[in-house]
Amino acid sequence: MRQLSALLLAFAAMTAHAADKPRTALVIHGGAGVIERSALSAQDEREIRAALDRALDAGNAVLAKGGSALDAVEAAIVVMEESPQFNAGKGAVFNAEGKHELDASIMDGHTRKAGAVAGVSTVRNPIRLARAVMEHSPHVMLAGMGAEKFADSRPELERVPNHWFDTERRRRQLEEAQAKEKAGAAIVEKGKYFGTVGAVALDAQGHIAAATSTGGMTNKRWGRVGDSPIIGAGTWADDRCGVSGTGWGEFFIRNAVAHDICARVAYRGDALAVAADEVINKVVPASGGDGGAIALDRDGNIALPFNTSGMYRAWIKPDGSRGTAIFRDER
Ligand code: ASP
Repeated sequence: MRQLSALLLAFAAMTAHAADKPRTALVIHGGAGVIERSALSAQDEREIRAALDRALDAGNAVLAKGGSALDAVEAAIVVMEESPQFNAGKGAVFNAEGKHELDASIMDGHTRKAGAVAGVSTVRNPIRLARAVMEHSPHVMLAGMGAEKFADSRPELERVPNHWFDTERRRRQLEEAQAKEKAGAAIVEKGKYFGTVGAVALDAQGHIAAATSTGGMTNKRWGRVGDSPIIGAGTWADDRCGVSGTGWGEFFIRNAVAHDICARVAYRGDALAVAADEVINKVVPASGGDGGAIALDRDGNIALPFNTSGMYRAWIKPDGSRGTAIFRDER
């Protein structure tokens, strides 16, 4: 009898401990688009999964020691900006002039503070600049030369010449896009982009943050700005839901995708997965766009819908289980 009550006590202590354990979660993406098994070499696939894993580790290290969701998403994004596999920071796509113009945004759901930059050209980690806009300026979004000027006032931000972002792979993509354009194709084509990066985290305090960083779309021109730096379109976080999107930015702007997903959760009481699925698989395609999103709610539920053939994605759930996936048929 004494043995049984000792056992019961030990069990109660164990379950109390499990319930006390803070529920943190992290979900990231490295872009949606036409990603076919046949077109991705085994080495590229290995490198992409390894980079996603490194980004997860960086974000999760912050969460595991009780850090904020805001710090976690920034840490994860910095790793992906530094990885040439993705269209953000090093490895960003080229615009029509053969240059890089980078967009990024970050949002803290708990305070609804946000920072964003568009068309920056010499800041090594645009997500850090977006965070600086949020924390050290009275504004939410800075663009072009103004954003560069603001960066001059933040000595902690590393600067690089624009060609530092170059990679051979992206140059080939620009050459292909321009050859096709000469032959009569549209400047940008459906599904012909991928590699934008994003992260959404839930921290031990129950707060959510989201962030997105990109080089935009290959062959873009006229100072084109996509959805990634636009709060409510490519990035959103509130106190119950966070989203980072990837896809044909014009359609994500027109449908306020990131905000719409969280608004459905807030106002309609939709489950996160239902809200994210409806916006990505019904609303966006109905208007002619394509892409995907990652979403996370305050209970640690995650959703990763996309309507393209693939989306680079990875997650750590509140129970500690983790995974990476690229293709549609992976769970
Ligand atoms: N959404 C990004 C943009 O339109 C592109 C992407 O997600 O790959 O700039």
